[in-house]
Amino acid sequence: MDLNDIRRAVTACTKCGLCRTRTNAVPGKGNPNAKIIFIGEAPGRTEDERGEPFVGSAGKRLDDALKKAGMSREDVYITNVVKCRPPENRVPTDDERAMCRNYLEAEIAAIDPEVICVMGNTASGSVLGQSNITSNRGKIIERDGRKYFLTFHPAATIYNRELLRTFEDDIARLAGFLVKGLVRKKQSTLSEFGRE
Ligand code: URA
Ligand code: SF4
Repeated sequence: MDLNDIRRAVTACTKCGLCRTRTNAVPGKGNPNAKIIFIGEAPGRTEDERGEPFVGSAGKRLDDALKKAGMSREDVYITNVVKCRPPENRVPTDDERAMCRNYLEAEIAAIDPEVICVMGNTASGSVLGQSNITSNRGKIIERDGRKYFLTFHPAATIYNRELLRTFEDDIARLAGFLVKGLVRKKQSTLSEFGRE
């Protein structure tokens, strides 16, 4: 499946109950040749209205952090664990995540990024099976031949200046890893889980 096929499938998807309450499904968006994929939790109200990921206040925080790190939305690909908004922005259930998982996997396979930036507890739980952001953030983690980078969800930074600074520093450090080519090294000393 290429990104257009995935987009079409997501837009028409009725696999889980979230299809009944959404306005628009929200497929991932960005550069098909991106070196980084960012993964959030689920669309919020603005995303549901517009059918695009991270276009509300959390998206503004992400945009600002990308800019400070010398990147823009056009350089990267941005998506979510589930593609339809849960009512009242509740956390998506295990069933919803499982039903939506093949789209995320297809996006990752189509783009084949150098690193996947996992933002927040929901994405971390779904993608890495762990939710201890505070002790694992800011590092490259290797899993099954892919490299991941864990940080806070940008929505968590909205009322917390300290988290905002950490989030922005993390994104800048992630950009730095790419520039230095560190994430390409097989025997990376940055690997936390030692799967080289
Ligand atoms: N929060 C998310 O996790 N994803 C979005 O697309 C917007 C807000
Ligand atoms: Fe389909 Fe995912 Fe939307 Fe559920 S959340 S309807 S699985 S696209």
